[in-house]
Amino acid sequence: MAITKTDFMRGMQCRKMLWLDKHKPSLKIIPPEIQARLDAGNDFGDRAMGMFGPYEEMTVYRPGTTIPDKKAMLAKTAKHMEKGTPVICEAAFSNYNNYCAVDILRKRGPVYDMYEVKNAPELHEQFVKDAGFQYYILKRCRVPVSRVYIVLHGPDEANPFLPVEVTTEAKGLYKWINDNIWDLNRMQKEREEVQVEPGECCTRPYECWYYAYCHGGMPSGGEL
Ligand code: SF4
Repeated sequence: MAITKTDFMRGMQCRKMLWLDKHKPSLKIIPPEIQARLDAGNDFGDRAMGMFGPYEEMTVYRPGTTIPDKKAMLAKTAKHMEKGTPVICEAAFSNYNNYCAVDILRKRGPVYDMYEVKNAPELHEQFVKDAGFQYYILKRCRVPVSRVYIVLHGPDEANPFLPVEVTTEAKGLYKWINDNIWDLNRMQKEREEVQVEPGECCTRPYECWYYAYCHGGMPSGGEL
């Protein structure tokens, strides 16, 4: 059990959230409107794969499921890196089992540019942290990453993909990620439930799906 990008982002919002993801995921309640937003984000991500023309997608599922087969994805990505494939989508990388899949990895001569796709009209700090985590894993895998972009949803539906460069900001998070990733790795394996006092972390930057569990059954912002 190591840390993925999602684990890292959730664990940095609240360590207990990550622990519950690993040990008691059935307590999670995802509101329908959030699920709809996640689904729309996946659709947007699928469409963005073709923003630079032909591409190779690395997604492989375990037989009969929609669970990604990370080992197969890592092997497929390695093969395409070796081959020099110009655009690799869902490119998978792992370092000491910490893992990420880059939305779009685009070869530019001897280096690569990285694109993280977000179905949102404006840039948020969390998006840069997402990209920073991926840069961290790729750097440790010795992938020569040059530029880092967040692809936002532009205002024009005929041309909806709006890349915003965040290279300096994303690369600048390397130490912060390294300072936390190993602690999250250790913490998520603890047998005893991690205790965190509910507070601002329950709603920021995202509303927590364990809100009802930690607040005695009370939904966020309302009465029972
Ligand atoms: S509800 Fe709050 S305390 Fe409980 S896991 Fe979520 S963020 Fe942490």
